[in-house]
Amino acid sequence: MKNVLFAASEAVPFFKSGGLADVAGALPKALNCPAYRVRCIMPKFGQIQKEYTEKMEYVTSFEVPLGWRRAYCGLFRLKYQGIIWYFLDNEYYFFRERAYGEFDDGERMAFFSKAILEAIPHLDFDVDILHANDWHTAMAPVFLREHYNHLEQYRKIRTVFTIHNLKFQGQYDPFVLGDVLGLEGTPAEPQLLTYKNGRRESVNYMQGAVCYADRVTTVSPTYAEEIRTPYYGENLDWLFRKRSDVLSGILNGIDTKDLDPAADPSLPYPYDLSDLSGKKKDKKALQEELGLVVCPSVPLYAIISRLTEQKGLDLVTYILPELEKRDLQLVILGVGDAKYEEAFRYYADRNPGKFSAKLYFDEPLSRRIYAGADALLVPSRFEPCGLTQMMAMRYGTLPVVRETGGLKDTVEPYNQYEGTGTGFSFANFNAHELLSAIDLSLSAYKDKKAWKKLCENAMNKDFSWHAAAKEYRKLYKELLQS
Ligand code: ADP
Repeated sequence: MKNVLFAASEAVPFFKSGGLADVAGALPKALNCPAYRVRCIMPKFGQIQKEYTEKMEYVTSFEVPLGWRRAYCGLFRLKYQGIIWYFLDNEYYFFRERAYGEFDDGERMAFFSKAILEAIPHLDFDVDILHANDWHTAMAPVFLREHYNHLEQYRKIRTVFTIHNLKFQGQYDPFVLGDVLGLEGTPAEPQLLTYKNGRRESVNYMQGAVCYADRVTTVSPTYAEEIRTPYYGENLDWLFRKRSDVLSGILNGIDTKDLDPAADPSLPYPYDLSDLSGKKKDKKALQEELGLVVCPSVPLYAIISRLTEQKGLDLVTYILPELEKRDLQLVILGVGDAKYEEAFRYYADRNPGKFSAKLYFDEPLSRRIYAGADALLVPSRFEPCGLTQMMAMRYGTLPVVRETGGLKDTVEPYNQYEGTGTGFSFANFNAHELLSAIDLSLSAYKDKKAWKKLCENAMNKDFSWHAAAKEYRKLYKELLQS
């Protein structure tokens, strides 16, 4: 049996700001098995609800060296849904109004990474693999080799670093290198620094992790290829090419228990593969709720998304005048950049009964849309994995996606000759290609039998965490044998 310590700055249900929390909440449960015992570690943020903090048990406290500092760290423990969670406590660093976005995030997350390592002897758990996630924990593999490698308990630890979001790399003034990290003049220096015109530009935590981790993964195989190119690589493409021998992609899953059209309490009419009549009723209820014309035969398209450039909304806003002319309905549920919100509001006002714009965050409504819509548009510029297309397919709603990252890996494009596929796709970031894909879906929708088959194909796909867990276990096995 091998022991895996899974480190992330957030996890459902304790604290969530984005998709990392969903992964960290679900993957350890799926990974835990007789061969790999998994425990998790995260900061004891002030944002964690009392219902969890009051159940935590105090284990011990220790000092964390950080540059010239010696900082207190309390270690707490909580068993939740069969998994042991450790929480690292330092009120100065983690009891802030916001969990992220503070002036000293670089120091706070360096503390977190160092505290993970300092905690190891106190865990009653002999760590074989340290699985770190995103920039918040990126310094852990670096510190491990630079500050702890002389100790046998640490030397044998193998590290995996998973990138969920490449946009946030943890970049700070080079001053941090000595003052906070205590790594000035060490072999880590050139691995952490970035240079501009021959001068030190910044310290980059994620760059450090990609250099130091034994294996680097990201959240879909296609994205793992894409980030080796300048278009997707966020200035680290050179490093991903250099480290391509240890870089791979493992597709995320979704919580198929929670996301189940047969048992979702948000839906007025539950349904499953054997009987899709509930889906039709959900569509009618949704049309009523959104103020759309109630009509079963008009295809209802949806967008459920952060309204940002990443999500390809420029393509959608560009073709809105064309969509006005098509026999379809469109609902947008999203919050984000003013330019997109304004465009969607304008077109919804111009087309009452046909377009609906819900510019806020509403999870139960999102579920009713996944169930009641016919198709979901996801034309992203880039998409490391993407959840919405998988959720849509789980609810028998067909995604129309750009072939990038996880979208490419999860959506099998419709083949009109063979009747196969789980959705529709297009290759280039081009509004006319999106429109052609929508037009293809419109013509498929007219063939009721073909459409039903595609819905069934989509609902039959297995997006549970089991497949991902199997891949990670394979990776751990290879790593421990190497
Ligand atoms: P990203 O993490 O890049 O925003 P994902 O596709 O990985 O994109 O995940 C987005 C998640 O957020 C999905 O669960 C989606 O249903 C949800 N979501 C996005 N916008 C809204 C909204 N306005 N209301 C409810 N849920 C939303």
